[in-house]
Amino acid sequence: MPQKTKDTPMMQQYLNIKKDYPDAFLFYRIGDFYEMFYDDAIKGSQLLELTLTARNKNAADPIPMCGVPHHAADSYIEVLVDKGYKVAICEQLEDPKTAKGMVKRGIIKLVTPGTNLEDKPNQSKENNYLAAIDPHNQQWGFAYTDLSTGEVKATVLTSLEQAKNELLNLRCKEVVVSPDFASQWCQEIKDMGILVSQEEPQKEYAEVAFVNQGVQSQAAQNTIKYLISYLVETQKRSLNHLQKAQFYAVNKYLQLDHNAQSNLELFRSLRTGEKSGTLAWLLDQTKTAMGSRLLKQWLQRPLLDVKQLTKRQNIVQVLLDNYFQRSSLQDYLTKVYDLERLAGRVAFGNVNGRDLIQLATSLVQVPKIKAILRDLQEPVINDLLKQIPDCQNVAQAITEAIVDDPPISVTEGNLIRPGYNQQLDQYRLAMKNGKSWIAKMQVQEQQRTGIKNLKIGFNRVFGYYIEVTNANKEQVPADRYQRKQTLTNAERYITPELKEKERLILEAEEKSTILEHELFSKLREQIKKQIAPLQTLAQQLALLDVLQGFAVISENYHYVRPQFTKNNQVQIIDGRHPVVEKVLGKQKYIPNSIQMDKTTSVLLITGPNMSGKSTYMRQMALIVIMAQIGCFVPAQKAQLPIFDHIFTRIGAADDLISGNSTFMVEMMEANDALQHATTHSLIIFDEIGRGTATYDGMALAQAIVEYLNNQVHAKTMFSTHYHELTALADQLDEVENVHVDATQENGKLVFLHKILPGPADKSYGIHVAKLAGLPESLLKRAQIILEDLEKTSAQKPAQPVEKTKDTTNKVAADKSYVKEQLSLFKEPETSPNQVLLQQLKDANLMKMTPLDAMNLLAHLQ
Ligand code: ADP
Repeated sequence: MPQKTKDTPMMQQYLNIKKDYPDAFLFYRIGDFYEMFYDDAIKGSQLLELTLTARNKNAADPIPMCGVPHHAADSYIEVLVDKGYKVAICEQLEDPKTAKGMVKRGIIKLVTPGTNLEDKPNQSKENNYLAAIDPHNQQWGFAYTDLSTGEVKATVLTSLEQAKNELLNLRCKEVVVSPDFASQWCQEIKDMGILVSQEEPQKEYAEVAFVNQGVQSQAAQNTIKYLISYLVETQKRSLNHLQKAQFYAVNKYLQLDHNAQSNLELFRSLRTGEKSGTLAWLLDQTKTAMGSRLLKQWLQRPLLDVKQLTKRQNIVQVLLDNYFQRSSLQDYLTKVYDLERLAGRVAFGNVNGRDLIQLATSLVQVPKIKAILRDLQEPVINDLLKQIPDCQNVAQAITEAIVDDPPISVTEGNLIRPGYNQQLDQYRLAMKNGKSWIAKMQVQEQQRTGIKNLKIGFNRVFGYYIEVTNANKEQVPADRYQRKQTLTNAERYITPELKEKERLILEAEEKSTILEHELFSKLREQIKKQIAPLQTLAQQLALLDVLQGFAVISENYHYVRPQFTKNNQVQIIDGRHPVVEKVLGKQKYIPNSIQMDKTTSVLLITGPNMSGKSTYMRQMALIVIMAQIGCFVPAQKAQLPIFDHIFTRIGAADDLISGNSTFMVEMMEANDALQHATTHSLIIFDEIGRGTATYDGMALAQAIVEYLNNQVHAKTMFSTHYHELTALADQLDEVENVHVDATQENGKLVFLHKILPGPADKSYGIHVAKLAGLPESLLKRAQIILEDLEKTSAQKPAQPVEKTKDTTNKVAADKSYVKEQLSLFKEPETSPNQVLLQQLKDANLMKMTPLDAMNLLAHLQ
């Protein structure tokens, strides 16, 4: 019986390896190609636009196959990984020429979206995070790492929703979970476009133990185990650049969930999805890739700690006040390469000569940077100075060993400086002597034979040879020249002396490249011992870089240092929206103050569309974020409390997490804010209630304002087109009105973008319509309808519940309106017992905290 194709020893080997990597494309090395088989080949040929062929085409069972040349493999791997797939690289582990029987093969690494180290120029300013999630009882361990820099962070969350939010914020492409992670959860994460990899830690890896030293929490430690084991398993090498994990508690930072980050356009513009036009784009005046990455990390998690913030502000202030020192500092920082990733490559073992020269060039800047800082003679700067290690021994070791302009390859010589190693110098001398001996021989032979154009050449196949053109063939001394190769117009010969010299030269060459590689590896090992100080240096320079960037933009745009208050009062005098101001230019931007004293919690903002309500609210949120990362802020003066959480409900959100209807999302976001905001939170509600019918929407909007006033007390900016709500300010003691007006200039509608106290004119709609030039008769008619409506008071707000400002002066609740909205605003006219019963029934226990439950009980009593 003929052997089946899949039973051949090679396919057996393939299938054996493939079974351990079912979820990866297996790139199986055969000679100069990486081949894919079976389903990998079918899918791979489509994704990579390769020709699908078959192994053993003519057999009864041809196996689908496609392949890529090994030298071009990287770009194909990149495409697959970018699309969210994994690629397992299977190499020949022995030389096919010397192997007995089947060549041994094995997986040398697994390239995955979360562990991809491919250096892409446009991504050096971004982290590429791999995360892990491990739920246990009510605790959700969450950890993440960037393999290229070795940073590891971990926390404990309370729900899958929170974990998904972290994944989105960190823009993770891959997450590691245990094999028994619920398949429904896996699916929810996959639906977000994130690859889920399941890992069962097999061994007690030293890396895990080391990284875990950074955290106490058992849940965090367990999660880190999955994360790091997966890294070691996929990379198949030791990872000594991994740092001890840092534990972070989400509530120790200003919380910004994914919606808030995207609504406020911190990293991506809502309109274009691009980076330009965002806060990160505006603030990024950094000179290094590490600085740029650190800035983004800060924006993800602004601080709550005034002490730490003051430290950052103090440094910004000094750098702001010292222009010349700052600009030299920038010059030096510009010459600092990505130390963090270079350190990673040293540890990883894939560093080359050019990387080391970059490392040395960067390190040479350190004493210069430190000298400038020292000269400033400022205590805050001296504190920073103490944290910056020198690492000059590393710079020196590199400069002594490596030539100025080394090649990319580390195995082909020309890396090591002359004078660095005696043995290497001897080999090089031998090579040089051999070559000059050959040059001399050429002259001697020309003279001896009388052949003027006789020359000695070299190629990889024949080594050194003597070449004589056909015209002079006759003059060749037959006794000593052996013919080796015939060309169309020349003959090539060798002689025993030439071959002997060649042997010496080639031997010296081979030994010298081997020795160079050895010396290079030794140097790399020596630098590897300095990874920790190099990483510290990288972090400190990144910090300095971000802060000098803050000084630059504070100077360019005339920002001021915000003061943090403890009295829950907001006073921003002539504040600006930093990004809109940059885009419009300073002249065109109308500054607006924001004042909320400690008893104001809701600022009701009215005014026509496009007048600047949304910009005003975003201005507030961005100023808060800038202040809480230590930057100065766009205003004449800013006094702010420390905020613990920013909630936003702005426009139509793209609902990545659950795929709900727009109005549902609106209500969910509102609910999130109402349930979780504290008195120290900031809430931005833009036109809430707009997504449903007028009465319905207005009723909800009013009830929300009341709830904010009565229960939440968070600082809230609430823009609304329900003009009727402005009456609430008279009745609710924490509500204030402001408005934006429009005017007419030369018959044209002009928005002044100026925020003024009090409510907008109640007929501003008609006013704007007039400015827009609608027919006079139509406007008159509208005015009559308005008055009519007002007479029947169909749209006055219902009488607010509880905690009113002045009970004698309440606007009488209009019966018809109240009747319609009864269930929302007033207790139904039923017996008290029934009401109690209904309230008990209505309580959603699944969503309540124990405290909520206590409160409800107290209320019912
Ligand atoms: P609204 O929320 O009231 O519909 P927006 O806040 O979206 O209005 O503002 C509309 C446009 O007006 C913005 O795109 C911006 O260009 C401009 N704008 C808003 N505020 C100002 C301001 N303070 N100074 C200058 N232009 C402004």
